[in-house]
This record gives sequence, structure tokens and C-alpha cells, in this order.
Amino acid sequence: ASAGQALANNLNASERTHFVLVPLMAQGHTIPMTDMARLLAEHGAQVSFITTPVNASRMEGFINHAVAAGLTIQFVKLHFPAVEFGLPDGCENADMMQSKDLFKNFMEACAALGEPLTAYLCQQHPTPSCIISDVAHWWTADIATEFGIPRLTFNGFCGFASLARYIIVHDNLLEHVEDENELINFPGFPTPLQLTKERCPGSFSVNGLEQIRKKINEEIKSTGVVINSFRELEALYIESFEQITGKKVWTVGPMCLCNQDINAMAARGNKASMDEAQCLRWLDSMKPGSVTFVSFGSLVCTAPQQLVELGLGLEASKKPFVWVIKAGDKFPQVEEWLAEGFEERVKDRGLIIRGWAPQVLILWHKAIGGFMTHCGWNSTIEGICAGVPMITWPHFAEQFVNERLVVDVLKTGVEIGVKAVTQWGQEQKEVTVTRDAVEAALSKLLDEGEAAEEMRMRAKEFGVKARKALQEGGSSYNNINLLIQEMGNQAKTSG
Ligand code: UDP
Repeated sequence: ASAGQALANNLNASERTHFVLVPLMAQGHTIPMTDMARLLAEHGAQVSFITTPVNASRMEGFINHAVAAGLTIQFVKLHFPAVEFGLPDGCENADMMQSKDLFKNFMEACAALGEPLTAYLCQQHPTPSCIISDVAHWWTADIATEFGIPRLTFNGFCGFASLARYIIVHDNLLEHVEDENELINFPGFPTPLQLTKERCPGSFSVNGLEQIRKKINEEIKSTGVVINSFRELEALYIESFEQITGKKVWTVGPMCLCNQDINAMAARGNKASMDEAQCLRWLDSMKPGSVTFVSFGSLVCTAPQQLVELGLGLEASKKPFVWVIKAGDKFPQVEEWLAEGFEERVKDRGLIIRGWAPQVLILWHKAIGGFMTHCGWNSTIEGICAGVPMITWPHFAEQFVNERLVVDVLKTGVEIGVKAVTQWGQEQKEVTVTRDAVEAALSKLLDEGEAAEEMRMRAKEFGVKARKALQEGGSSYNNINLLIQEMGNQAKTSG
């Protein structure tokens, strides 16, 4: 980054390639876009980061950091018409929605950002070089066409899942599947992949979303795709995706690695609900590689009984853990259960974080030896960077596909053995993962023995490769420079 920073300092505004980043307001989509903004700016580009007032206040830490570091990122706060579209006032992020039935309203309110975004672009001279839009913002395609600039899409998936999703959409794979136990094959996928319908991305149904989904699937209009991954991790699938779609893929990750200092890591996504220093002190007191980090991202809603069962499994394992619980007001019964003695019983080896955790700060601490994850792609790649093996516990969306990548392809994880899909906004009623399964998975991951040792070695190797990819001369480092160059040149020829 320092070479990029030096380059950036020597450019004046009109010479920089100017990217307009339009993230989807959901943590798993916005956070990697903030990393992208930072990386592009560090490599000499100018960035306009489109956001809304509530989201801007949540990422205040990141904004302050970007300003203090002198990064050429402008935060553009557009009015989010929540109330106008039937959402509660201030409901500007997917994780603030009380019911998934409001998702359609949310997506429509997002689309209404098109007008103020167009107005903003009109004020920019010269015209920005390129829009990088979340794939869910189908409406940015027309804006890019109007301004005659390229639009790249970002969907937050890895290459492996992007390919699976493309095949599902392109071949209409799910349309005629009636039997929920039928294993679906993916024609053209370079290695064997089989999933039931429910476990496929796109199986999630929300009232009225069909039309919007159709528009999103017209992604074909984008010039290329930006992926938060690196070639060395999944070259086969990225190349296959490029071949099948005929689109250029820019792998520029793992983007989370741009957070190298403690403040940047702690400021990621939201204000942490726990004092970072206290968290670090606790981790410092643990043996290297002994602690499992347990977290299921920002949206997953695990049933209270299931959380209790997970807790009992952690307790039975007798192994140290950090457990992030988003139960809060929604599940008072979990709070009661925790208070009834659980916390006291595990206090010498268990740290419980309620609410938002400084995830990368924890994951990359030397005390962490394993990661129990829901397999959201950001969490997965953050775990890969940490160089630790994973216990995979997918809930919905493309998480089941990511599980296959981790377990079958990278061979750096063990499945917890999820029996049912827990769709977003629909909590599971019964316990499907027992405390014994939790305990068994932890042993498999952390205990001695050749298999576990091999998995740890492989995870460590991927961690090293991940870091190399973003270092000067690495594949993603080079791709960022090429992306900036190419988009800058296109802007010059079209201008
Ligand atoms: N995250 C965090 N603290 C939390 C929960 C999540 O920092 O308490 C971050 C996590 O590091 C990741 C993102 O939020 O970058 C979640 O994205 P992911 O794709 O893993 O899952 P999603 O939330 O979209 O299901």
C-alpha cells in the first residue's frame, strides 16, 4: 500500500481514476466495499462511497480513519426514503429489518437512490470513470449507460459460489425441482457439486421479490465482476466462471487484509459492543492456537434452543472459546439461560460478546486456533486469512456452497452437520445440531492426530498465500493496479 500511497500523493484529482462505489446496505456487503474503497484509494484512485445517514453514522470509525489517513475517499450521504417506502424511520440496513416481508420495500427504497445518485454524478467534473455496484442494485446499470461509463458488479460471493449461482440462474436449475431431498447437479461445474434445492443460493423466497430478482439476474449488463478472493485460492472456479460467462473477473482480495492496525480492525462495520482492549487482554491470557471463535455473522437468527445447545456443547468440550451472541431483546430466554449460571461455569475459558464483535481483531489474534462460522463469505475469507481451520455451520443463502469449498476443495474445515436450512428471518424451531456434535467437531478441529494436524497446516498455508496475494507484486495487488489503469484509460478514451 505504501507504494500506492506514494503514487496517489503525486496525482491531482483530475488525473485519478474515479470509482463510484454503491454498496448494498447489509453488513456482509457494505463492509467489503469499505475495504475496497480503502484499497483503491491506497493504490492511487479516487473513490466516492455512496451511503446513507444511518449507515454513515455506523461506520463513523472507518470514516474517521480514512480521513486521518488522508485517503482520497469521499463519503456521499444520500437521503434514504425509508418511511416513503413503508419502512420504519431510520431503517436503512438489512440487519435493522424486523421482518423479511419488508425486504421488498427495502429494495425499492434502495432503487429510489437512483435519482440523487444521478444528481451527484452530474455535479462531478470530470465524469467519474466507473461504477462498482452491488449486484443487487440492478438500477445502477442504466445510470452507468446514461453517463457512458463502465459498471462492474460486486456480489460478495467467492468465485466458487459465483459460478454455482450463475449456473443456477442460467440453466434454470431450481425451477422444476419438486422433491426437496433431490440432489441437484451443476452442469459445467469443474468439480462434482451436489446440493438440495433449499441449500442453493436464490432459493430464498420473499413476497414480491420475483420481479426484482429477475432484474438482478440481468447482471449480464455489467462489464465485469469484482470478487473478494484471490486466484491462488480457487483459480479453477474463477477461470471457469470467466469462460462460462465471458466476463472479466477482477480478484482483488482478501480485501479484509487492508485492515492492518488495531484501530482499523476494531472500527470495522459497526461500533463494537465490547471494549477492544479488554478483549485483547483476555486473548493474550490464552495459549496460542487454543481458542475457538464462534460467530454467525450479522443476519443469522439461530433459534434460542439451538443457541443453548451450542453453549452446552462448548461447555462440554472444556476448550476455550469466544462466543458472539446476537440474541439480545429478540431472545430474552437465551439471556436468562446465560445468566442462570452458564457464564459463571465457563468464566475461566469462555468470553461471551453480546452484539457487535471486532471480528477480524479477534480472529487474527494468535490465541485463536479455530473458527466456528456460518460460512458467510466475508467470515470465511477472514478465517482463511487467519490461517485457522473452520467448523462450518451454514444457515442460508450461498453459505452451503461456501461450506463445500471449505470442506471438499480447500479441506480446511469440518462440517458440524447441519440438517436443515434456517432461512433469513425464519428461525428454526427445533434443535438440529446437538451438543455432542458441537463437542465432536471441536475435538476434530483442535485435538492432536494426523488429520487435524494436516488440516491446520493447510489452513496456515492458505493464510500465507492470502497475505502474499495482496502484497506488492501479488496477484490481487496487481489486479487492483490493472483495474485502476484499465478503468482510467476507458474514461480517457470515452471522454
Ligand atoms: N462482523 C463483525 N462483527 C460481528 C458480526 C459480523 O465484525 O459481530 C463482520 C464480519 O467480520 C464480516 C461481516 O460482518 O466481515 C459479516 O459478513 P458475512 O459475509 O460473514 O456474513 P453475513 O453477515 O452477511 O451473513
